[in-house]
Amino acid sequence: MIILILKAKLWEKLDNKKVKCHVCANECVISLGKVGICRTRKNIEGELFTLIYGSHISKGSLDPIEKKPLYNFWPGHIAYSIASIGCSFRCLNCQNWTISQANPTDNGKNGFYSDEYSDRKISLYEMTPEALVKNVVKSGAKTLAYTYNEPLIWHEWIIDTTKLLKKEGIKTILVTNGFSTPEASKELIQVGIDAANIDIKGMSDEFYKKICGVKTLQPVLNTAKYFKENKVHVEITNLLIPDLNDKREDIEKICDWVLNNLGEETPLHFSAYHPDFKMPSNERTSYSVLDLAYNIAKEKGIFFPYIGNINHNDGSNTFCPNCKIILIERNGYQIQNKNLTANNTCKNCSFDLNGCIKGKINENSSNKFFFI
Ligand code: SF4
Ligand code: SF4
Repeated sequence: MIILILKAKLWEKLDNKKVKCHVCANECVISLGKVGICRTRKNIEGELFTLIYGSHISKGSLDPIEKKPLYNFWPGHIAYSIASIGCSFRCLNCQNWTISQANPTDNGKNGFYSDEYSDRKISLYEMTPEALVKNVVKSGAKTLAYTYNEPLIWHEWIIDTTKLLKKEGIKTILVTNGFSTPEASKELIQVGIDAANIDIKGMSDEFYKKICGVKTLQPVLNTAKYFKENKVHVEITNLLIPDLNDKREDIEKICDWVLNNLGEETPLHFSAYHPDFKMPSNERTSYSVLDLAYNIAKEKGIFFPYIGNINHNDGSNTFCPNCKIILIERNGYQIQNKNLTANNTCKNCSFDLNGCIKGKINENSSNKFFFI
């Protein structure tokens, strides 16, 4: 039987049949019959349920892992990518707003929208954990990414499916806003999440309030640090939005934070913004700003700065932090091993990259991604 609605994890009962959810740092207090900020957790008769347990936007898609983006984790491999609907944030620039801002129906089978989009609907694909694992194994993908909408709100599904995927040797990846709680992060680490790309969207509470609709940045930083301390492979993404978070000081601040808290070997992806959804800026990020970010990160000592969503001379390649020779060259999503040995050392200077690059390179990667 396909279950789409399930008693939630990590919540407590309050007075008057209210409940408090601890799955993300919004820690919503939810009255009887209402849903939390993510729209996907409902108080039904004084108990909290997830409405999206087995609800997917599609059967999944096969993406290059670099699209997540993860550049230092199983480079060139395919990430079987799945998503549901809802999000703990309301980013004004969300590129995936058609899924992130959708509400599940009470039976978890469809999504609908509020306000100006109320005439739209989205049908959801129903899946069991076993069926997902079967599909992933059949696809040949060695990794699975919970991505596109915010995976942290899909906690129960992630825990159950990661357990099964691990038995098949599939690595699991979160592409997340990082707005977790220590309790939720602990469960994700315990179940064995292998890697996370965490968005640090800006370095101030003001940015998070104005652009993302949440009160504070700190939980995101805490999650990144906690994951890293617990041996999850972490890469950071920072979308540079013109006039909102793209000043030299903003870039320096995130570089310093990464260096001081996650370490020089943590990849930092700066990506280009384009106007979308409610368009907090009408301009695209310029090449010169991305180039500045790349150079600041290099000068400060970040080993692996990357540039995404735009062609940048060096920003898609991986260089040896010691001798600076090119290790992995990327052309779109096609990658070539230039100077990395089978033991993850630099062919030129023997620098050991095992703490920096996880897994083997797949040079037969495709530059296409597709739905299945
Ligand atoms: S997951 Fe986050 S946003 Fe959703 S109900 Fe729980 S605390 Fe609120
Ligand atoms: S966190 Fe990501 S998915 Fe959620 S609203 Fe922001 S950009 Fe969209």
